[in-house]
Amino acid sequence: MRVEVDELRCAASAQCELICPEVFEVEDVARVKVPEPPPELADRVREAAEACPTGAIRVYE
Ligand code: SF4
Repeated sequence: MRVEVDELRCAASAQCELICPEVFEVEDVARVKVPEPPPELADRVREAAEACPTGAIRVYE
């Protein structure tokens, strides 16, 4: 799995960090700390992508 955040779409709402702080960190904008998350985090990364209000998180399986 690979994950990216489109910084231009990110509204800094921080749902991603709440759901999966191991991978996402939000200050002015969300940053991906672990671009290739391990399998044990995959479900929460997908959940974060679905929860993102602006669709800024892209997941490549
Ligand atoms: S949930 Fe989406 S909009 Fe909110 S901080 Fe994360 S990437 Fe940005």
